Amino acid sequence: MSGTIQGATGTWEMVIGLEVHAQITSNSKLFSGASTAFGAEPNTQVGLVDAAMPGMLPVINKVCVEQAVRTGLGLKAQINLRSVFDRKNYFYPDLPQGYQISQFLQPVVGAGTVVLDMDDGRTREIGITRLHLEQDAGKSVHDLSPDRTYVDLNRSGIALMEIVSEPDLRSSEEAGAYLRKLRSILRYLGTCDGNMEQGSMRADVNVSVRRPGADYGTRCEIKNVNSVRFVQQAIEYEAQRQVDILEEGGVIAQQTRLFDSRKGETRSMRSKEEAHDYRYFPDPDLLPLEFTQAWVDEIASSLPELPDDRKARFVGELGLSPYDAGVLVAEKEVAEFFEEAARDRDAKAVANWIMGDLFGALNKSGLDIARSPISAAHLGALVDLIADDTISGRIAKDVFDEMMKTGRPPAEIVDQRGLRQVTDSGAIEAIVDAVMESNPDKVAEYRGGKDRLFGFFVGQVMKQSQGKANPKIVNDLLQQKLSG
Ligand code: ADP
Ligand code: MG
Repeated sequence: MSGTIQGATGTWEMVIGLEVHAQITSNSKLFSGASTAFGAEPNTQVGLVDAAMPGMLPVINKVCVEQAVRTGLGLKAQINLRSVFDRKNYFYPDLPQGYQISQFLQPVVGAGTVVLDMDDGRTREIGITRLHLEQDAGKSVHDLSPDRTYVDLNRSGIALMEIVSEPDLRSSEEAGAYLRKLRSILRYLGTCDGNMEQGSMRADVNVSVRRPGADYGTRCEIKNVNSVRFVQQAIEYEAQRQVDILEEGGVIAQQTRLFDSRKGETRSMRSKEEAHDYRYFPDPDLLPLEFTQAWVDEIASSLPELPDDRKARFVGELGLSPYDAGVLVAEKEVAEFFEEAARDRDAKAVANWIMGDLFGALNKSGLDIARSPISAAHLGALVDLIADDTISGRIAKDVFDEMMKTGRPPAEIVDQRGLRQVTDSGAIEAIVDAVMESNPDKVAEYRGGKDRLFGFFVGQVMKQSQGKANPKIVNDLLQQKLSG
């Protein structure tokens, strides 16, 4: 999965651009006061505007506009102080207006950037073409009855941001990294919950192939893909399909396609419609959106620290590697957990516990960090117990398992189970003597030059101390006594 495809006639390169529909976090819809809460009974959250009752007029929701501007700022994008709502005309049974209110020639946000953090620590900048506001459609339900289609208008009129990327992505991995990064930024900003399972984020995936360095080829657009994994599968399948056609001397027809996640295939839905087919024109029911720079600046001054800045800080101030920092900042909750646990401690040690043991354990129990039985404070306390030699790293793993099961503080577990490290040399010396006495043959072999046996003695002493003897003291004493 490298972004290039080796065909019989040579190498092909994938070119990918994504149009992401992100549902704006807001209590009410873009042009009505109806609720946006997920999971309600069908058709219980529908304003007269959303149902397109005759004579109803849309009223813009200021919160949604502010969220779009906030997102634009988070994408380091141009904020257009004047933008215009247009009608995009088409027939959809679940959009009673007969047109979608969107933005076309003058979107609220212009060009911006998303920085990808690739697995090998490299970064790559992907251009954002634009971000515009538009309404969502309702949902047609085809599987409740064999001979009827039902319509649920709860989604109708919900505010979406369509975030369009430049065709800068070159592999399915990059497309995945782009979606994850975009989702991370939106969540930090609080402008979209990024919940793909609930449909809060969907992607239209544009794919073409070309000879490396040649002009862009004809693209196909795969509609409404709703998970990162499916986006990646759809790209792999679609690029290969196009290469197969081109290799046989065929041409790519520009099409809108669907991804069948069960079969892992894309298939044709319709030939591509052109913008003029939609007969876009400015919506006469809505005035253009106009902002003052001061209002935009005010929103800018309230932005939180975003993942890229936080990553730079973790690298610069805490000495983490770019890779570790990238992993820890991706989810805001993880970054906050890490910061709390690492405060005034060895950041690298805390990072290792989180990325190794904690992620592993949470993953195994199907929990996310917000529901971690181990709190940040307790994880930090565990790292302290190792740092001040109260317990060894080995025993810490057992304490961690117990913390994961019970949520108890580590010091309590250590005390109750008597796990405190033995640093009393007298006590350790007694064990060393006992081990040497019961293994006289091994002592003789060691003294005869079989150095490898040293590990055997360490192991025996640690075992007899139930892992609690301070390893450094054990080493020193054994060195001393075995040589003597
Ligand atoms: P439309 O609105 O008709 O879908 P746009 O010009 O807005 O068309 O482009 C939509 C998306 O298609 C953008 O994300 C863009 O990056 C992507 N795109 C454009 N040309 C190509 C191409 N040759 N290959 C892959 N993606 C492309
Ligand atoms: Mg499109």
